[in-house]
Parts: sequence; C-alpha cells; structure tokens
Amino acid sequence: MSDVKFPCEKCGECCRHISGIPELAEYDRGDGVCIHLKGVLCEIYDHRPDICNVETMFRKVFSKSMTREEFFAKNLDACKVLMKMKEDREKGQLG
Ligand code: SF4
Ligand code: SF4
Repeated sequence: MSDVKFPCEKCGECCRHISGIPELAEYDRGDGVCIHLKGVLCEIYDHRPDICNVETMFRKVFSKSMTREEFFAKNLDACKVLMKMKEDREKGQLG
C-alpha cells in the first residue's frame, strides 16, 4: 500500500462547511463553521473525529470499495471546489 499522505493544503475550508454532516452536527457553531477551527487549523487535530481524517476514513470505510488513490482523488476534487469557494469569498471581501 502507498504511504503517500493526503496532500492537504491546509486551507481550512472543509472545516467551514460542515453543515449536513451528521457526525459533525455538534461542532457546527450555527453557520456551518466548526467550533474547533482556529484560523485555518483544527485545534483538536490530534483528536479530531474520524470523519475529518482522510486516512482513517479510507482505512475504516472506503478501502472496501476503492483504492487509496481513487479515494484521495475524490477528496481532492472536493478540495478544489472548496478552495474555489474560499477564493471567491476572499475576492468578494477585497472587491
Ligand atoms: S479543503 Fe482540502 S485542502 Fe483544504 S483543509 Fe480541507 S482537506 Fe485540506
Ligand atoms: S474537528 Fe477539526 S478537522 Fe474536524 S471539522 Fe472541526 S476543525 Fe475541521
């Protein structure tokens, strides 16, 4: 198995869009942003829920139905969408 880590760019954006994720319902501060997000980092990173950990989710759930590379690619597609949302929001704040 590959030991390449998931190439997270630490934009923090996935932690700003947690509404609708049942496992994170208790962490939503009310606007979809996680209460544990500080800047762009997770303040409970070492103890974050499984749903927040790409490696754990692959190992425990998705390894049964796809390869690690496929799972990473799917996650990266979501990251791209989220990073575009961040870019657009920041442009909006500047403009
Ligand atoms: S959206 Fe993707 S790149 Fe950004 S912090 Fe989350 S996992 Fe990392
Ligand atoms: S617990 Fe941490 S990794 Fe999970 S959504 Fe909140 S800030 Fe992000």
